[in-house]
Amino acid sequence: MSESEIETLRRRVAALEAEVAHLRAQPAGQGTREAELRLITDALPILVAYVDRDYRYRFNNRHYETWFGQGVEALTGLHVRAVLGPDVFAQRQPFMEQALAGETVAVDGVLPDRDGRLRACAIQYIPRRDAAGTVEGFFVLAIDVDERRAAESRRIAVAELGDRLRDLDDTAEIAFAASEILGTTLGVSRAGYGTIDPVAETILIERDWNAPGIRSLAGTLHFRDYGSYIEDLKRGETVICADATEDARTASGAEALKAISAQSFVNMPLTEHGGFVALLYLNHATARSWSSEELAFMRNVAERVRAATERSRATAARRASEAQFHAFAQAIPIHVWAASAEGALDWFNEQVYAYSGAAPGTLDGAAWADLVHPDDRATVIRSWGEALAGGHSYEVEIRIRRGDGDHRWFLVRAEPIRADDGAILRWVGTNTDIEDRKAAATELARLNAGLARQVAHRTRERDRIWETTTDLMGTAGLDGYLKAINPAWTRTLGWDEDTLLGQPFAVLIDPGDHAETAEVVARLGRGETVTGFVDRLLARDGSQRIVMWTAEPDGEIFTIIGRDITEQRRTEEALRQSQKMEAVGQLTGGLAHDFNNLLTGISGGLELLQTRMAQGRLTDLDRYINAAQGAAKRAAALTHRLLAFSRRQTLDPKPTNVNGLIGGMEELVRRTVGPAIAIEVVGAAGLWSALVDPNQLENALLNLCINARDAMPEGGRITIETANKWLDARAARERDLEPGQYLSLCVTDTGTGMTPEVIARAFDPFFTTKPMGEGTGLGLSMIYGFARQSGGQVRIYSEVGQGTTVCLYLPRHYGQAEEREGQADLGRAPRAEQGQTVLIVDDEPTVRMLVTEVLEDLGYTAIEAADGPAGLKVMESDVRLDLLVTDVGLPGGMNGRQMADAGRVLRPGLKVLFITGYAENAVLGNGYLEPGMQVLTKPFVMEALASRIRELIADS
Ligand code: ADP
Ligand code: MG
Repeated sequence: MSESEIETLRRRVAALEAEVAHLRAQPAGQGTREAELRLITDALPILVAYVDRDYRYRFNNRHYETWFGQGVEALTGLHVRAVLGPDVFAQRQPFMEQALAGETVAVDGVLPDRDGRLRACAIQYIPRRDAAGTVEGFFVLAIDVDERRAAESRRIAVAELGDRLRDLDDTAEIAFAASEILGTTLGVSRAGYGTIDPVAETILIERDWNAPGIRSLAGTLHFRDYGSYIEDLKRGETVICADATEDARTASGAEALKAISAQSFVNMPLTEHGGFVALLYLNHATARSWSSEELAFMRNVAERVRAATERSRATAARRASEAQFHAFAQAIPIHVWAASAEGALDWFNEQVYAYSGAAPGTLDGAAWADLVHPDDRATVIRSWGEALAGGHSYEVEIRIRRGDGDHRWFLVRAEPIRADDGAILRWVGTNTDIEDRKAAATELARLNAGLARQVAHRTRERDRIWETTTDLMGTAGLDGYLKAINPAWTRTLGWDEDTLLGQPFAVLIDPGDHAETAEVVARLGRGETVTGFVDRLLARDGSQRIVMWTAEPDGEIFTIIGRDITEQRRTEEALRQSQKMEAVGQLTGGLAHDFNNLLTGISGGLELLQTRMAQGRLTDLDRYINAAQGAAKRAAALTHRLLAFSRRQTLDPKPTNVNGLIGGMEELVRRTVGPAIAIEVVGAAGLWSALVDPNQLENALLNLCINARDAMPEGGRITIETANKWLDARAARERDLEPGQYLSLCVTDTGTGMTPEVIARAFDPFFTTKPMGEGTGLGLSMIYGFARQSGGQVRIYSEVGQGTTVCLYLPRHYGQAEEREGQADLGRAPRAEQGQTVLIVDDEPTVRMLVTEVLEDLGYTAIEAADGPAGLKVMESDVRLDLLVTDVGLPGGMNGRQMADAGRVLRPGLKVLFITGYAENAVLGNGYLEPGMQVLTKPFVMEALASRIRELIADS
């Protein structure tokens, strides 16, 4: 019943009292009053009665029937004791007597209801007087406040339970407190809490609450001993039993239940995670009904027990984990600390105290901040504040003071510990000593700075070299362009950087070096490093610079360093020149001597010839003529050597069968070297033909054989060997040749051999190890000059005591060798055909005369001219000309070649024979002449001239 209902009731009771008073004042008859009273009171849920002085009921309203279960009529006349029972009547009688004494009495008492249960009631006894004022009985008004009281006491009980549970964290104590409150509040025999083993179907009760005189059930009980209601419990249902003897589930165990003062009971299962784990129970010794309010109260208590138990378990777990944490934290050799969710540091491990020297327990709160280096405090406050506000990790590097006052660097970190709902519970932090790491980092930074300085320094140095060197440095690409160049390029060549970078570098190179440059680039493209490559660069002022290169490939790019060796070359050349001049000086002396001897032989021979002819002694004239001719031949040979040495000899390269040439020389060689030396010729089969001047090759071969002879004074063996050689890039480079096909001609002896020093100098002109007058030192230098001029090479392979091999490499001629014409004598020279005319141009009248005579002897018509213009005039005329024979060096502003070219314009295909005393190779096209042009080297035998003329004319 709610307060407002009770209030309403009160008001109605008050109205009723007023009515009763009014009725009392009315003199009306008994029956009328009673009928009216019944009318009024029957509808009220209040007990209303009238009791006379003998304590017998005279009137009961309808509610008595509801309350006591007996008809109202049956109550009338009954003694109050009989209705209330002796106990309640005994309690109430004194108050009734007071009412009979004329007092209105209000009393809080109990009334047994129809089940015999005592219910709290607010009771009033109101005396009734008769007209004389004598009290003849009293009215009873009883309001059932039982439910209100119970609700109130339950409310108080819940509050009390809350208070008690707050301080408890032992599950047994929690269970007992709840049981006690439950038991006393509901006035039952026993209340308790037990944990369930659903498999064994047992309940374990640690401690229960028992009403006075009721024994404890502490221990283990088997549900099945008391009935089958365990099934309901397992399903999570609360078992409510008002009377075990009446309940089907407990009929079998009713006696047992009664024996443990549990004829009525409530078993309320407590579930955790859906499982039946515990039980809250109420027992009552006698049968008892359980109101829904009581059950609600019990559920409330059960809920609180569950929550408290859970909390206590969580607390226990937390305590355990905290204990574990502290144990860990103390064991870790770093600083560990903890802070509240709000950021107040409230725990530090021993390491912090040991480090800081602070007394244990004194660092909580602000004391800690004092350890932080003053310069780092702002950082700490800011970062810690941010971490707390954002709930994220905290991390700073700060200095913390040590006990001795020094500061060390620490990495301070903290992480929030969160509850399941994400709320921050605490913070746990660590401080890691990073002093050493920090020092190392500083040292590293210092080193790095040093390194950077060094690098900068070296870069500057390198830049300075790049800027200031006179060497040409840069990079170039296989695409033929320079990519980067240093200032030396502009200084050396005069071109600005844009010009140098803006065009293919080939433009800068003398065309004569293009082929070689292309080869070098190709090698770089194959990844080879190139050193010592020399080419000529074209400077802006028109001069040439000779540069020696080193190039290092790097993919598509190559790095180049070039040294301008122009001056060096010039100096070398000058030195060579001066050395040569000195040598030539020496030579000229010797030559003059030789020539005087030879001239003496010639002129002497001619003189004697003249004398004998004048005397008419015409016998034995041949002797003088032979003597003169012999001297002249030796003189010619001597000049030949000199020309060869000067590398200015006029070469007349022809496709030559070298094996054949050797065969032709073999007899001569044999005679030259004498009988003590065996000659062996090993001519390679299928030897290619060589493009070479055969006369010079003969000369070279003879010289090699003479050197071999000189190296074998005691005799020995000379082997002359030929072979085909295919020189690849490497082999060619080793021999300083272009790659390609060559023939080798090697002369090997079994003589003294040469020391490395001699080998190194053997090709030097005038270098000889032979006694004065025996060696000229010109043999090998001539051979070298000839070989190089022919596009070939000479190599010496020699060891002291083992002998020597000298090899000539000669370029292959792709084609058949020409058959060499024999040395026809003049008598067998072919005669001219009718009217064939030869123009002879030479500034030397003797030569002209001699040639003219030879020609006329052969039947040719000869026309003479002394210089180029004169010769040209003849060619401009319409005189018949079958051949032009001309010297190369001519006076009159036009050399023989120019004249011949001009003549050929007028007379295309005109045959030309150049006769020349020394090399004008450039003039004559370096030995390669147009068809119909030939060269004859002075001096020559007249037969050779005649046959050459004939050959040329006949060739048409
Ligand atoms: P010459 O023969 O007049 O001395 P060369 O130029 O022909 O001049 O030779 C130069 C030097 O090379 C010789 O003096 C000699 O010392 C050395 N030489 C040349 N050929 C041979 C060889 N076959 N065996 C040993 N030494 C040689
Ligand atoms: Mg020699």
